[in-house]
Amino acid sequence: MQTQAERWLSQALPNEGCGFLLGQYTAEGAQVQQALGVANASASPTRFSMSGQDLYRIYSASEQGGLSLLAIFHSHPSGLPVPSATDLAEATLPHLHFLIATPDSRGVWQWQNFQILSPHLFIKTKILLYSGNILDTDKNSASMLKGEKA
Ligand SMILES: [Zn+2]
Repeated sequence: MQTQAERWLSQALPNEGCGFLLGQYTAEGAQVQQALGVANASASPTRFSMSGQDLYRIYSASEQGGLSLLAIFHSHPSGLPVPSATDLAEATLPHLHFLIATPDSRGVWQWQNFQILSPHLFIKTKILLYSGNILDTDKNSASMLKGEKA
């Protein structure tokens, strides 16, 4: 079963899809409470961008809901599960987890988590995993993002 974020990415095919995970930091970790899809203003299978209007909408939603922006996510429908040169050059929110989803041979979205340190440097971090209501680093990726509000 697809999560809310995965449904959004599937709908965007064959283009890249993108959005944000919102939630709260707790003593146990980051708790995802909402996935908000954003239209890919580039409408491209190899890059994504967001309009200023959509970013404003996301910031407003997080503020009104008392939620933090936890992660920015996007898909690579036919690319590698690593940040592209374009991703690195255009990453402007380095404090956020940078999640990339690629479809496997069965079309199931596979998630990777990165931190973009500079336009030339990124590290792969332990994936943020969603177990119950808590994102943690010890469970397998199949549980990720489950339990989002529909
Ligand atoms: Zn990308």
